[in-house]
Amino acid sequence: MIKIFEHNTESEKEKVSARKDLSMEICENLWQVGGAGFTAPDDAAIYLIRCGEKAALIDAGCGNAHDKLVNNISAVLPSTVEIEYLLLTHCHYDHTGGAAAVKDQYDCNIIAHYLDAVYLEKGDNDVTAASWYGARMDPLPVDRKIRRPKETIRIGNGEILAFHCPGHSPGSLVFVVDFDSIRVLFGQDVHGPLDPSLLSDTQQYIKSLKFMLSLNADILCEGHFGVYQGKEQIEQFIRSFLNIS
Ligand SMILES: [Zn+2]
Repeated sequence: MIKIFEHNTESEKEKVSARKDLSMEICENLWQVGGAGFTAPDDAAIYLIRCGEKAALIDAGCGNAHDKLVNNISAVLPSTVEIEYLLLTHCHYDHTGGAAAVKDQYDCNIIAHYLDAVYLEKGDNDVTAASWYGARMDPLPVDRKIRRPKETIRIGNGEILAFHCPGHSPGSLVFVVDFDSIRVLFGQDVHGPLDPSLLSDTQQYIKSLKFMLSLNADILCEGHFGVYQGKEQIEQFIRSFLNIS
């Protein structure tokens, strides 16, 4: 089901030989467009969802390879399709450092959980882990804050479910999209880490991992470990962090 595309047609190849647009189709209307190997090594994975004539991005990377990200997106998304939302799984810099540039580029609305939005809006370098990257988190306004345990984001001809799954950070979110009969879970940083400076909470983390198992996804799009397919593989991956055999 997964195909790697290098988006240079034969006729374009010579002109753009110095540039490599790389996107990966995960299933119909879903691509990975950013992350290590796609944009820049420090970037967490960036996913693109198309719902008819609207689209959404999940996470934004550090922002050090913004032009590459834009190229990867335009290689798979027609310019007539509007990117309506940038959904942030959590506040960490490797997921959010590029958010301001993405908003400038696409004029999209930024969505995050209110418990993480507070650190984005005040530009907290510690809780966002910007300091881990030798970077600075500029204050980032969040347009819509998720406050309930579960919220529905309507977009184009579809919907994205947002679930509060704290532990790695106080306001971590996971997103679920049903592409016809394929349930895709955008599981943010399933693997953690848990760290006091990130305000991590082990008990919440374990509860959230168990909840993710209950979602029974067919595809897991993870923050740094890529894409897992098949219920068994996903369960194995999530359980490996629960220490449950
Ligand atoms: Zn993180």
